[in-house]
Amino acid sequence: MDSLVASPWPRNRALCVLAGLWSLIYGVLGLIGAGLFWALGMGQLVARAGAIEVWARGRFARWMVNKGWQGFTGGWTVFYWSPPGIGDLIHEREHVRQILRWGPLYYPVYAVASLACGYRRNFFEVKAYAAQRAAGYPNDA
Ligand SMILES: [Zn+2]
Repeated sequence: MDSLVASPWPRNRALCVLAGLWSLIYGVLGLIGAGLFWALGMGQLVARAGAIEVWARGRFARWMVNKGWQGFTGGWTVFYWSPPGIGDLIHEREHVRQILRWGPLYYPVYAVASLACGYRRNFFEVKAYAAQRAAGYPNDA
């Protein structure tokens, strides 16, 4: 899996530190969310390919699945509401990469883009779906 799903973090150490600082607020909030899920027994944590994954379980996870959602990227943490396929892993890692690049601007710009263009046509989603298609896994997420 790790060879199929690349870490979203820059390889250059200085850029990596800058990206971490630039996205720190969302990174910390995501880690707090992951800790809450773990502490409340609502999910299992997995660290791999440059992100923390929460494999959520229970009522809230089922509710999200019933709403049609597969995952949510919160900073450096990806919450999966059901077991992810490789396409899901690639898709959500692309969102982590976007957060590292856009930092504190990510969620406000994402919200405006979604309101203006709709969920599937907002450019963050277009790029995330393109990444999973390019890897040969178009059908998850
Ligand atoms: Zn997405």
